[in-house]
Amino acid sequence: MSEHTPTVPTTTEDSALLERIGATGRDGRDVPDAATRETIGRAPLQGVDDLEDAVARARAAQPAWEALGHTERSRLLTAAADAVEEHAEALARLLSREQGKPLNGPNARFEVGACAAWLRTAAATPLETEVILDDETGHAELTYRAIGVVGAIGPWNWPLMITIWQIAAALRMGNTAVVKPSEYTTLSVLALLSVLNDVLPPDVLIGVAGDREIGARLTAHPLVGKVMFTGSTATGRRIVEGSAQNLARLTLELGGNDAGIVLPGADPAAIAQDLFWGAFINTGQTCAALKRLYVHDSLYEQVVEALAAVAATMPMGNGLDEDNVLGPLQNRAQFDIVSRLVDDARERGARIVTGGTPASDLGELFYPVTLVADIADGAPLVDEEQFGPALPIIRYSDVDDAVRSANGLDVGLGASVWGDRDEARAVAARVQAGTVWINSHGGVHPMIPFGGVKGSGYGLEFGVEGLKSVAVPQIING
Ligand code: NAD
Repeated sequence: MSEHTPTVPTTTEDSALLERIGATGRDGRDVPDAATRETIGRAPLQGVDDLEDAVARARAAQPAWEALGHTERSRLLTAAADAVEEHAEALARLLSREQGKPLNGPNARFEVGACAAWLRTAAATPLETEVILDDETGHAELTYRAIGVVGAIGPWNWPLMITIWQIAAALRMGNTAVVKPSEYTTLSVLALLSVLNDVLPPDVLIGVAGDREIGARLTAHPLVGKVMFTGSTATGRRIVEGSAQNLARLTLELGGNDAGIVLPGADPAAIAQDLFWGAFINTGQTCAALKRLYVHDSLYEQVVEALAAVAATMPMGNGLDEDNVLGPLQNRAQFDIVSRLVDDARERGARIVTGGTPASDLGELFYPVTLVADIADGAPLVDEEQFGPALPIIRYSDVDDAVRSANGLDVGLGASVWGDRDEARAVAARVQAGTVWINSHGGVHPMIPFGGVKGSGYGLEFGVEGLKSVAVPQIING
């Protein structure tokens, strides 16, 4: 174990989970607690040989896994969900320490719960053969077959949930999977895989704790038929280039800069709490979080004030403290991005309503909820993805202008419209985004397809569409 003695309380179950993945030995890379910066364990450093071995084993295991059939695979995935629930508290605690998100609120326990829910849904969702033609001219059916080996590459913000999103449907459809977790949240993902592997047959699901180079090799590997990638748009472009080598099919869930539009007539007090969590879930480190809020002139100040009032009630601090619902930024690079964008906004003359300087009293990587008013399109805090707890609030007077602004960037993951439902639905139809929520932002459901447009990527996850996306269509004609 590390020479550092953690000051946060740990349980026997916490230690057992780290031991399972070999994180308590002397070898490997020190992994810091996001809140305290103390070492919580050591992550293995795996290389090219490990990747080659993993892909070869996953390839060898695939035919038998596919041959088990949907019923048996679904039974095993349901058992895997049970295993996650058995270890839920230890997984949530490790996630909280490594990622930073608190146990409470829509955070670590919520994330682990979602893992079990998505596994169960992937197991239970039927995918029927479609009869395309059945008349005197002939009979044709469309079925979906396994692809082979799926490579899964994930980010550090919702590392467990996104890993499950990437693999649950893939396994259900008869593929095997090789997972490369983010370097920032390796331990949590390895722990999750270890728990799942308590019930899955050997080599159906293999983790490789490598760096970007290993990610790039996995993407272009000749034995990989599909890559599920979630991360930044810049890396997404590299993945597309890699897929020129092996023609792997891709699902790309990339960055976003989701706009919210508050229409005239909305009730600021009624929507403030949902606006807050839309923007600040996981302390703003969420792909489909509300990242630019456009508010009609007639209620601009009321919305700003109502949001500030909600923000004042949300405790931030160490995630293991049950009181907290907001945590640190996960890493220094992200902390620096948020600080830079807020400093730039201030220098441009924007109004810092609350927050605005690091919460150094809480720890190295804490930045408070920051609401920035009197700011316009063109400011980097508006135009760039901040991926942290700083929300620019932009005033508009003509809904057409707000829609034009919402559509003005080269990303389109999510968006939201707030106000009268019918009016909001009409505006939603004009917004370029994979999902447009009405009077909420960012909620996902295992049966509702999710995916981006423009620079936010392509392909859908979840539900029936999600199953199809990790399979190859096959026509039986005759
Ligand atoms: P990132 O792109 O830096 O890294 C993501 C993963 O890609 C990591 O595992 C990394 O090791 C790997 N990687 C890096 N270079 C690679 C390469 N050349 N080939 C293959 N793999 C490579 O992203 P991040 O900083 O971890 O995550 C934050 C970003 O992810 C944000 O932009 C966020 O919006 C986005 N995101 C999107 C979704 C979504 O569903 N659309 C969900 C979560 C996060």
